[in-house]
Amino acid sequence: MMEYDVIVVGAGPAGLALVRGLGGTGLSVALVERQSLTALADPGCDGREIALTHRSIETLRALGAWALITPAAVSTLRSASVLDGTSSFELPFGTEGLREDHLGKLVANHHIRRALFAATAGQAGLTVFAGTGMAAISTARAGASVTLEDGRILRGRLLVAADSRFSDVRARLGIAARVNRLGRSMLLAEVEHDRDHHGVATEWFGHGQTIALLPLTGRRSSVVLTLAEDMIARLAARSPAALSDELTRRSGERLGTMRMMGRPYVYPLATTWSEHFAATRAALIGDAAVGMHPVTAHGFNLGLRSAVSLAGLVARGAAQGRDIGAPSLLLRYESGHRLAAAPLFAATGFIVRAYTDDHLPARLARPVLLRAAGHMSPLRKGVSRMLMQR
Ligand SMILES: Cc1cc2nc3c(=O)[nH]c(=O)nc-3n(C[C@H](O)[C@H](O)[C@H](O)COP(=O)(O)OP(=O)(O)OC[C@H]3O[C@@H](n4cnc5c(N)ncnc54)[C@H](O)[C@@H]3O)c2cc1C
Repeated sequence: MMEYDVIVVGAGPAGLALVRGLGGTGLSVALVERQSLTALADPGCDGREIALTHRSIETLRALGAWALITPAAVSTLRSASVLDGTSSFELPFGTEGLREDHLGKLVANHHIRRALFAATAGQAGLTVFAGTGMAAISTARAGASVTLEDGRILRGRLLVAADSRFSDVRARLGIAARVNRLGRSMLLAEVEHDRDHHGVATEWFGHGQTIALLPLTGRRSSVVLTLAEDMIARLAARSPAALSDELTRRSGERLGTMRMMGRPYVYPLATTWSEHFAATRAALIGDAAVGMHPVTAHGFNLGLRSAVSLAGLVARGAAQGRDIGAPSLLLRYESGHRLAAAPLFAATGFIVRAYTDDHLPARLARPVLLRAAGHMSPLRKGVSRMLMQR
């Protein structure tokens, strides 16, 4: 039996950010991850381009991870534009009247993961258990314990679930979650194209499909196409040339001819909302707490926020000699994060419902809503702020 102050299950961005945030606190931390150490140190591309808000960039900088991301891997998101169906009207979201000259930055998920893991290298008090998952847990007022798949047992004062939106730890803690499987999948593809994107991200809600074009450096973009699961499966099986033609057509040739630069990645769409973010001696962070719909690009940003919020409370508790798994501390974490997450989760849900409903009344209402929003400058500024998390 090995004793730690904190046991974190899951070394995704949220788990790694929490671990890094506990650096220098004098606490002993066990990080459990079923992927190998090699995969953690050099994660493969997963097709995701993460739209980082200014706040997230500041957080990554404070955690020592931003400096470890090569500048060549960072693309600037200057503004965003929303389109509906075949209407020529575009609703722009820019930075007019705001301090910054861009909405945020785009960085591939694997670059962020690599940087966060590298930032934890040599961290005093950290032990990484990689290549073995969590097999069982138990929690009581006296402490928590985790049994690894290889039979080793870890004991801690606080257990943190950072093991994705389908968190096994959450289920074993007996915390229910609202899981909404949307019956759609996303196809992610990096493409090069003939025309400039000028740093503008485009979200186009067509009839039966949603397509997002995320601007990368040069004449490259990440295309995120959302369709029914079976259609995405069929598209992903096509040859690179045939898929390139299909993406060119489905994006209305906005960026000219597109050419695939690698293989496509497919993700089934599901959102999750945990009924509680804390339990006896345990807390949920990242997607384990809230699995956002990617349309507003907030999942990572919110997960990072949950990790630093919990790390801050635990660090302060430890500095004051208090119990880091005390119910009052966990309650503060839970209520703070619910307050931050609930409006974003609700707003994102509203957008998804309004713009992916292909019934006639919703289709007719959309252009009206879009044009009305175009005349409301404070609303657009508010949305820009929301996208930037200012
Ligand atoms: C297509 C797509 C595009 C996205 N785009 C954006 C975006 O633009 N902006 C944004 O903010 N967010 C975006 N997101 C969301 C973002 O990727 C997630 O919110 C983020 O990765 C969640 O991080 P996490 O650490 O909570 O979980 P994960 O990244 O899921 O990591 C969980 C970790 O736990 C490990 N694990 C799981 N179970 C166990 C176990 N039993 N034992 C040990 N280890 C375990 C896994 O191996 C994994 O390493 C996107 C998501 C998708 C799918």
